[in-house]
Amino acid sequence: MTDLTQAPPSQSRTARCECGALEITVTAAPRHVHACTCTKCQRSSGSALSWSAWFPQDGVTIKGAFVTYYFAQPEDPRQMAGFCPTCGGGKFFRTGDYLSDCIGISAGSFADPAFLAPDHIHWWPDRPQWMGPAVGPHLFDGN
Ligand SMILES: [Zn+2]
Ligand SMILES: [Zn+2]
Repeated sequence: MTDLTQAPPSQSRTARCECGALEITVTAAPRHVHACTCTKCQRSSGSALSWSAWFPQDGVTIKGAFVTYYFAQPEDPRQMAGFCPTCGGGKFFRTGDYLSDCIGISAGSFADPAFLAPDHIHWWPDRPQWMGPAVGPHLFDGN
């Protein structure tokens, strides 16, 4: 059970899928924000890049139905993604040993133009060729 009084209201944010059936509320600031242009992220997002924020799991509340996709074999609950079974949005995920005490959330689900910029972009050489030079974040050739 999350005690909302522990975090200032400014730290409370809600991510939502497009149809609104899946809602994820966070009460703390993200621990990390990055973007990734690897081809795996292109497939999972259906877009040019993923933009992800990791929040301490204690302050994450998930409301609504979701389906689970295990992206590692054998199935591992620490390496999974959940998303709305109706519209496919509202993606959240766990990334194994990477920020293991956090839940990742696709940052676009917050629909907040003021949401934090990525600290860096992974797999920049794999980006779609139409993407020009990035301004701002550091660019990595891999993870
Ligand atoms: Zn939905
Ligand atoms: Zn990626």
